[in-house]
Amino acid sequence: MTRIAILGSTGSIGTQALDICRRHPERFRVAALTARSSREKLFEQVREFRPEMAGLAEDDIPLNEIPEDLRFCRWMSGAEALKAAAAEVPADQVLVSIVGIAGLKSVLDALEAGRQVLLANKEALVTGGHLVMDLAKRMGKPILPVDSEHSAIFQCLQAAGGNPAEKILLTASGGPFRTWDRERIERATPREALKHPNWSMGAKITVDSASMFNKGLEIIEARWLFDMPEDRIRVVIHPESIVHSAIVFRDGAVLAQLGMPDMRVPIGYAMTYPERVETGVPAPDLAAIGRLTFEEPDTEKFPATELAREALRAGGAACTVLNGANEAAVAAFLREEIPFGEIARRVENALERLAGLPADSIGDIMEADRRARACVGKG
Ligand code: NAD
Ligand code: MG
Repeated sequence: MTRIAILGSTGSIGTQALDICRRHPERFRVAALTARSSREKLFEQVREFRPEMAGLAEDDIPLNEIPEDLRFCRWMSGAEALKAAAAEVPADQVLVSIVGIAGLKSVLDALEAGRQVLLANKEALVTGGHLVMDLAKRMGKPILPVDSEHSAIFQCLQAAGGNPAEKILLTASGGPFRTWDRERIERATPREALKHPNWSMGAKITVDSASMFNKGLEIIEARWLFDMPEDRIRVVIHPESIVHSAIVFRDGAVLAQLGMPDMRVPIGYAMTYPERVETGVPAPDLAAIGRLTFEEPDTEKFPATELAREALRAGGAACTVLNGANEAAVAAFLREEIPFGEIARRVENALERLAGLPADSIGDIMEADRRARACVGKG
């Protein structure tokens, strides 16, 4: 029986992980569940999965507001709830599927407590990749990636028989604006940005897919997970989202992982690694799909991946600045305060203004994040 704690259980990744638990009750016991503020949904999940502990990270729940039949479990709130779920409640695995830089603290807490971390939250590696990878190594607990591209690369590496990858081919759907011209992209609305052609995900990552910042963050994520310099990570546009990424060997061979665009496959693989279990997702019918296409990314229209590469080369807290500035700019865009095209310009401006900040500790990283957000606010 694997005991799993899920941070961010009411989100897109969290609910799909619970779907895997539901399909394999003989395998998984849910130890802890946390959400930010969606209490009704969390109540339902607690009723079904009966964890030992549950909590809301940004909402106080007085005992008298907890339905009587749910008082069997320990209820917590605030940062303490995240900390308890990551490191105190006995568990084998911790799935970090919350959004944003809050994930960094949770990943470090979970690793320190000797947990196996299943990582969906890419911000933890983008902002504190060096701290996370060092600690994971010291604890002898390699991070299991949940992000579909990184899961694909990880799966290909399992099949590589110890041969090193020369290059990583990171695939990207190109998002809803792939074929739009510059002017139209500049004026895109939140409703248009939230319409992803292939994947159904949370709002922040969906906007990031439209701007290609998601791919920028994933280049940084891959740099840390696979210890691969950015100039050996190539982005390839693949609008069908069937090839989830690939690795290139020195003999010219390319190994790729294919599947339907459904996160239950990479989530399930991380949960049951190295085994594979039924996930409810069919294998792609290649003949029915007919054609898989690939193109070069247009970095003029979508500057985000180049900005991410620059941040990696700059080192220090530059990737934290990129991430924090992007998070603040996406929030401003969703509130309809800035046009879509302004997101990348605000990030670029923050990177210029905040060059050279250190990232030696979690304190440095939180400070760089705060300054990046403030910088975007000023416009
Ligand atoms: P989501 O918005 O659907 O869900 C986020 C969950 O975390 C919710 O349960 C929410 O209540 C909780 N939460 C949000 N902010 C929090 C905070 N500050 N503290 C505590 N809890 C918080 O998001 P999602 O799409 O499931 O994405 C989660 C993470 O996984 C993100 O880092 C995202 O980049 C990454 N990811 C998601 C997908 C996907 O398909 N959705 C794919 C790859 C990676
Ligand atoms: Mg991804």
